[in-house]
Amino acid sequence: MSELEAVAGEGQQSRQAVLVEPRRLELRDFTPPRPADGELLIEVRCALSCGTDLKAFRRGHPLWKLPTPFGHEFSGVVVEAGAGVTAFKAGDEVMAAPTAPCGICFYCQHGQENLCALAIDKMVLGAYADMLLIPAHVVARNTFIKPRELPFEEAALLEPLSCVIHAQEMARPQQSETVLIIGGGAFGLLHMLALKTSGVREVVVLGRGAERLKWAAEMGADAVIDARSDDAIAAVARLNSGFGPDLAIECTGQVEGWQDALARVRRGGRVVFFGGCPAGTTLSVDTRRMHYDNLTLMAPFHFRPRDVRRAYEMLAARSGGFGAIVNARRSLDDLTEVFAMLERGDVLKCAVIP
Ligand SMILES: [Zn+2]
Ligand SMILES: [Zn+2]
Repeated sequence: MSELEAVAGEGQQSRQAVLVEPRRLELRDFTPPRPADGELLIEVRCALSCGTDLKAFRRGHPLWKLPTPFGHEFSGVVVEAGAGVTAFKAGDEVMAAPTAPCGICFYCQHGQENLCALAIDKMVLGAYADMLLIPAHVVARNTFIKPRELPFEEAALLEPLSCVIHAQEMARPQQSETVLIIGGGAFGLLHMLALKTSGVREVVVLGRGAERLKWAAEMGADAVIDARSDDAIAAVARLNSGFGPDLAIECTGQVEGWQDALARVRRGGRVVFFGGCPAGTTLSVDTRRMHYDNLTLMAPFHFRPRDVRRAYEMLAARSGGFGAIVNARRSLDDLTEVFAMLERGDVLKCAVIP
């Protein structure tokens, strides 16, 4: 287990968690920069733990060069706005996605801003901190005033909910449908909550662990199925008058989960492969099943500004019960403990509060 060490600084006023190498986090003193043109400096009020952070903590991240500031789901209060910023001013409570597209590249011009190199390469990292600088491209496109009545920890769900909304925009779930969610973690339950908010009739969570399934049921899943039970496959097959789910959304990020989603969806159904798998893994698809059972397979990645806008509206409306996803709170000093909890799986999302 890593040690969270307070590294001696020179009397500076702000702390920032840095992932030095896998399993080694340091809380370092740092001097927050003055915001340049178009930028915002915020005081972080809440940063949320994310499955991506846990993966990076365990084995590094293909796009993040270590050592790196850490944490990307956040909300806070503007300390200072750079020149040219007109939409925000000091004292504003804000929420933002950690990325934004350029708006002019090939992908952006094709409405696929989720694939924009700027969105992928220039992610805001460093939210496990007292202060955070939001770069101009994110301020311009994916930053919002937080409604006063929306708690900071719910506002910080903007990024994961944007991913969920993007996936559901592709899958277009209908209210009459039965949707199977594979995986009862934070993303699986965010999908469930978004689907129920949209009025989808039957949303079923297939997951592991009694506690997670209990959370899913408490948050509004129409049914939960324990993936470890002998009856799991038969229970899924019984859904939808015995035809099986119309739509399966895979949220485990494991090839077995992807394989399972393919196998469980009904003839004519759609599969969303939402959870990214480890590099180098391969999915095998029975071409006969794919063709004669008329399956539609989708693998949505990241999100577009329109998804962020929709996620913002859903959070601001406060009708989806999304806040229940955040089921633990710790101070920034306890970040090592946060990752221990994530590894044990006994928390969905933890609010890290400076
Ligand atoms: Zn995240
Ligand atoms: Zn672009």
